[in-house]
Amino acid sequence: MFWDKLKPSTNEPKPISVDLSPTFAIQVTWDDWATSRVPAAKLRLECPCAACVDEWTGARLIDPTRISPDVRPVGMEPVGNYAVQIRWSDGHETGLYSWRQLRTYVEG
Ligand SMILES: [Zn+2]
Repeated sequence: MFWDKLKPSTNEPKPISVDLSPTFAIQVTWDDWATSRVPAAKLRLECPCAACVDEWTGARLIDPTRISPDVRPVGMEPVGNYAVQIRWSDGHETGLYSWRQLRTYVEG
């Protein structure tokens, strides 16, 4: 249908909720009932911001040994309709995690 072509990416799954589970994993529930669950420390390490990843080479600039395994999010803010900004307990807060990235952690 013509109208369907006007609406972008209607087939892309959308997040229903983002929660911090008791095991310090970030859990995203999607509108197709899939669940992404990723340990907070791993997500912190995979922060895609310019301070953590070289934007030209894609090389990771974080020293994994400097990320506490106890790091956890202290705040989350949606950014537009494509990402969530996470503030971490280590003070880092420039990372925007796109839903597309979070979707890659879907289980099963
Ligand atoms: Zn970062």
